[in-house]
Amino acid sequence: MHYTPDYFRKERGIDVRTNETVVEVDWNYVVTDRGSKVEWDYLVLATGASPVIPNIPIEGNNVFVIHHPADAVRLREILESMSTVSIIGTGYIGLEVAEALRFRGKDVIMIGRSSYPLRKSLDEDVGRIITNELIKYGVKLRLNERVLEINNRGNKQVIITDGGKYVVDAVIIATGIKPNIELARQLGLRIGETGAVWLMST
Ligand SMILES: Cc1cc2nc3c(=O)[nH]c(=O)nc-3n(C[C@H](O)[C@H](O)[C@H](O)COP(=O)(O)OP(=O)(O)OC[C@H]3O[C@@H](n4cnc5c(N)ncnc54)[C@H](O)[C@@H]3O)c2cc1C
Repeated sequence: MHYTPDYFRKERGIDVRTNETVVEVDWNYVVTDRGSKVEWDYLVLATGASPVIPNIPIEGNNVFVIHHPADAVRLREILESMSTVSIIGTGYIGLEVAEALRFRGKDVIMIGRSSYPLRKSLDEDVGRIITNELIKYGVKLRLNERVLEINNRGNKQVIITDGGKYVVDAVIIATGIKPNIELARQLGLRIGETGAVWLMST
């Protein structure tokens, strides 16, 4: 179901503004990239997170992240004509993408620096089950490998890791997210050790 800004305005009394970015925040107002100033009594920061791109040399046009549903739709079309795709990162998004790509008959090379998938969430024994499932479904899993660079050669992408070299049609980077804290920084809010806004426990 799709609710329009107009629906929110009429039915809920909420002034929803899309395609408008808050670029400045102060203690009683915000300013958007369209130049409008909105005053506030209470401010809720719900700016989400953005994909982390590893700080390595990356070249080529076929290197992607998946963040927004629209990215998935766009990628589905782009990858239609491609056969070999590498996923960097063995977290939840990497696994979901691996499943979707295998379902579409793609060759999938999954590269992760940890010793088993979902290492932040699961113990090793469960991680081993997931490892075996991935292999069973034909994913070529390269664990304990750190990607050093992604190069472009003709219409291929060449991934260099500390353990090998992989030539693929496309690369999907799924190496985590970082909180969007620019506005919180402008307000001088304290940032916690995870890089997100620090909150007092209740
Ligand atoms: C591929 C993928 C699959 C996922 N699958 C699942 C799943 O199966 N189950 C699950 O529970 N979670 C899933 N998640 C995670 C889930 O999407 C997030 O946890 C959730 O969207 C977080 O909600 P949020 O409102 O905090 O942030 P977001 O959904 O990121 O919303 C933040 C909003 O703030 C806007 N914004 C940011 N900065 C500004 C600014 N300066 N001015 C104006 N607007 C701004 C952004 O445009 C965005 O609309 C998935 C995420 C991804 C990327």
